[in-house]
Amino acid sequence: MGETVIPLADLRYAAPVPAIPAVLAPADGLLADRLGRPLHDLRISVTDRCNFRCSYCMPKEVFDRDYVFLPQPSLLSFEEITRLARIFVGHGVRKLRLTGGEPLLRKHLEGLIEMLAQLRTPDGQALDLTLTTNGSVLARKARALAAAGLKRITVSLDALDDTVFRRMNDVDFPVAEVLRGIEAAQAAGLGPIKVNMVVKRGTNDHEIEAMAAHFRHSGIVLRFIEYMDVGASNGWRMDEVLPSAEVLARLRARWPMQSLSAAAPGETAERWAYADGAGEIGLISSVTQAFCRDCNRARLSTEGKLFMCLFASGGHDLRALLRGGRSDEEISSALGALWAARDDRYSELRGQGQVAAAERRVEMHYIGG
Ligand code: SAM
Ligand code: SF4
Ligand code: SF4
Repeated sequence: MGETVIPLADLRYAAPVPAIPAVLAPADGLLADRLGRPLHDLRISVTDRCNFRCSYCMPKEVFDRDYVFLPQPSLLSFEEITRLARIFVGHGVRKLRLTGGEPLLRKHLEGLIEMLAQLRTPDGQALDLTLTTNGSVLARKARALAAAGLKRITVSLDALDDTVFRRMNDVDFPVAEVLRGIEAAQAAGLGPIKVNMVVKRGTNDHEIEAMAAHFRHSGIVLRFIEYMDVGASNGWRMDEVLPSAEVLARLRARWPMQSLSAAAPGETAERWAYADGAGEIGLISSVTQAFCRDCNRARLSTEGKLFMCLFASGGHDLRALLRGGRSDEEISSALGALWAARDDRYSELRGQGQVAAAERRVEMHYIGG
């Protein structure tokens, strides 16, 4: 049986609003879920729209002219996002990543960044505030993003070869413009910059060495991501996944490399350094080596649904709480109860062959990467 495509309209309103517990649990930043995992990262999707149609994320055949994106009034406002982010910080969140869709398409995004940059942890520290972008409009936005308070940036780039890149974004977008965006981000001080390359066997795996050679000595960390079975429209097949172990073997055949320890707990990338001091790379092995045990991320969709896992089939409607006149304490309490009940570990179960093939799943462009 094939995958069931979950109609977005169905998903958007299907998940129940969490019951607000009678006793309010104050946020003490020490939340742990049912597997003992803390809440540390919040990924915030600011739009479900994108100007690319990467086949592994928003294939053209599905996301065509007739596809209905979220209407404007259903989007969380910047004030609503900031209010929620502040509540999440009370529960231990220290890192915020803006994503989408293409986050730089959200109008006046700098305004949101300014608001989020002012948030502080209980001991007065600024948050690690970053953003993932396809880089298409970065050349003209990098300076304003940095001025608004963005600290770092991750740019997705799947190939250096222009023909391969245009085919992968499927809207004929030239690679030179993304490279210009990366340069502009460097010049604006948005560093250290990371570049994400999703590797699809037979599509762009022949670009691995060229990408590595290009970013050596640049101070930019290139990260190779295994093609994931996220969503239900990308026609994912295991034989198109190039395991990170193969990527590493190919790099090591050309450059001596040594392994590095994880930069932070819950870090998804395995880090390797070039022995000649040319920098480091990362391997994100979401398919072949699940990292659910350390997963400390929550995801907030564009319309305010909270997802506990990238592969969740439903989210919890925080917007209903915001717009229903609930107090910060009530929302904080609901969030605490939701995280405490979390037991998601999809990739781990998939690795053990325990996931039903026809499970309903949310799409990547909607939940953010
Ligand atoms: N549009 C922005 C971009 O592409 O950087 C942000 C959103 S995108 C959904 C976030 C990340 O998810 C990107 O780095 C993208 O390459 C990655 N991604 C999307 N679909 C994927 C898949 N099926 N497997 C692995 N990574 C995927
Ligand atoms: Fe758009 Fe990013 Fe998805 Fe590509 S990966 S279609 S750029 S949201
Ligand atoms: Fe986290 Fe879910 Fe991915 Fe596991 S599958 S690492 S729980 S997002």
